[in-house]
Amino acid sequence: MAEGGDDPQDRAARRLRQIAYLRGLYEGHVRRFRAAAAEEPLALARAAHAEMDALLEDNRRLPGFEAVSCRRGCSHCCNGPVEIRVQEAALLVDHQRAAGRPLDIERLERQSCHSVESWREQPAVDQACVFLDANGACAVYEVRPNTCRKLLVTSDPRHCDIGRGEYERIERRFCWEAEMMESAALEVFGLQLMPKALLAALREGQNDAPAR
Ligand code: SF4
Repeated sequence: MAEGGDDPQDRAARRLRQIAYLRGLYEGHVRRFRAAAAEEPLALARAAHAEMDALLEDNRRLPGFEAVSCRRGCSHCCNGPVEIRVQEAALLVDHQRAAGRPLDIERLERQSCHSVESWREQPAVDQACVFLDANGACAVYEVRPNTCRKLLVTSDPRHCDIGRGEYERIERRFCWEAEMMESAALEVFGLQLMPKALLAALREGQNDAPAR
């Protein structure tokens, strides 16, 4: 279907249709998440990840997606504050337990004293996600949170090299459908910075553990 001409009225009509489309997506997710909120947390997190992957796969067919330059070992995003859902924290803790890999509690506690605004005031080693390995790869890639999945960088990968300090030259592609889904998750479940969410999930897990 033709999207109309380029005069101001056509542009305004197009904009209104886009806004209605995005609002419809957002409201649909909010309704769905509210209905599912009592479901088993790990299953909810896995379903959210599968849905995000499907959305991004669909988006991959759109013009401009070929410019996405994210690749293994390119980890700028993993050195910033990452907000996650409570169910994703539970899934990450469960994954680490199953793999027999302890979490770096001391670093999580230091990180949890920081907000989005103060994150970069930490020493460089503490800015890094606890799941970032020595090769700059994600050690929990298959269960990484949706915030990590939807970050799509389109600028030169060299700008993502932390040592170059070119943070402001990094450009991103937005998948609006993904943004609507995570905004709805924020509304229904709330999002927390990963360190606090992981520490809470660890405590919860200890409380759930059977007494010996
Ligand atoms: S979970 Fe993985 S992808 Fe996400 S910030 Fe941590 S290391 Fe990076």
